[in-house]
Amino acid sequence: MLKDYILKEKDYIIEKRRWLHMHPELSMKEFETAALIERELDSFGIPHERVGDTGVHAWIDGKSPASEATDTTKASATDAEARPDGSHTSKGYRCIALRSDIDALPMQDLTENAYTSTVDGACHACGHDGHTATLLAAAKVLKEKQAEFSGKIRLFFQQGEEVCGGGRLFVEAGLMDDVDRVYGAHVSPYIDAGCISLTPGPVNACSDHFRIIVHGRSSHAATPELGIDALYIASQIVVSLQTVVARSTSPLDTVVVGVGKLESGTAYNIVAEKATLDGTVRAFDPASREHTAERIREIAQGTAAMYGAEVEFIYERHADPLINDSKVVDEVTQVTKQLIPADHIIHDMKKSLSADDFAAYLTKAPGMYGYVGTRNIEKDPETGTPYHNGHFNIDEEALLLSCNVYVDYALAYLNDDLSGQ
Ligand SMILES: [Zn+2]
Ligand SMILES: [Zn+2]
Repeated sequence: MLKDYILKEKDYIIEKRRWLHMHPELSMKEFETAALIERELDSFGIPHERVGDTGVHAWIDGKSPASEATDTTKASATDAEARPDGSHTSKGYRCIALRSDIDALPMQDLTENAYTSTVDGACHACGHDGHTATLLAAAKVLKEKQAEFSGKIRLFFQQGEEVCGGGRLFVEAGLMDDVDRVYGAHVSPYIDAGCISLTPGPVNACSDHFRIIVHGRSSHAATPELGIDALYIASQIVVSLQTVVARSTSPLDTVVVGVGKLESGTAYNIVAEKATLDGTVRAFDPASREHTAERIREIAQGTAAMYGAEVEFIYERHADPLINDSKVVDEVTQVTKQLIPADHIIHDMKKSLSADDFAAYLTKAPGMYGYVGTRNIEKDPETGTPYHNGHFNIDEEALLLSCNVYVDYALAYLNDDLSGQ
């Protein structure tokens, strides 16, 4: 059973989610969204600061009697490096970070509801409106319960998840430096409302972008021997890249090498001087990821050299593979079992080759990313629509479970109420 202190926030969550749904903002431009988050945090009496232009970091320091000895703000007086939130490096307190992403997508909202997007070409079709509303409600409840825990809670309202841009800003700002646990959750149209996936191990793949620029030499198409055909060489590279998966990767490993764009040539009768190809790598295993990047570089350079062309190679790591810590999954499971039947908890969700930049936090502290079911076909068939589709929608009531897990896990972890820690 969900807790009363969560159930009472139902109207709040739905109201905020609908407002956000009506006012979607694209990645790294979430100005109105951040302003709403700050207004709400102010009304709860929770301090906050901006991270980048549109991310919001808030924090709540526990005030339970047990926290006297580990006051997170006390040591800051003697710590010259202390941050404005009172954290310090020589800490003697527990700290947990809770994260929600806040951005929308550049696409049309095709739903017809009272809260359909009012912004042409922008839509919360990945559920981040629901995530934001859920974490705001969790913040409200945790502030009310400030006297019931010790230690520190950090709340990350993170911008730019869809472009893998926000997570690293929070990490680079040092906000993970004193964090012992990090937890976040995404809604899922593939899981029934009332259920949640708490799956250990790899959950999402990395998302990397590579660009190969081939520099050849132009000539008249009738005298190919005087040129170096960048278009032909790039075509050879595209074909050869498929051998990375087929011939250089264990069949037991999941790796994708995809080329989505190839640009070359200026006219039908000119040997192309330049070709640019863009592609992506997806992998779950960090070693496979590095091996794949290296093979792509070797194939590009080797193929170009064979025909006398020069090549530029750019490889950008957008998001790390998202790998849930099994100990943290066990901790969150202990909490969730108090809220829903054990058979509503999924521990073997199918992995996804799409990425989530929550992975950035997991490189700094043990944590996990849950998937909360928001599918309720009887109530609304559109709640079964896949992500990034204009008909995407969620069963809003399912957000209560997500909110309850945020709150109860933070309390249980900070109060040392979990077994096996
Ligand atoms: Zn998305
Ligand atoms: Zn998403």
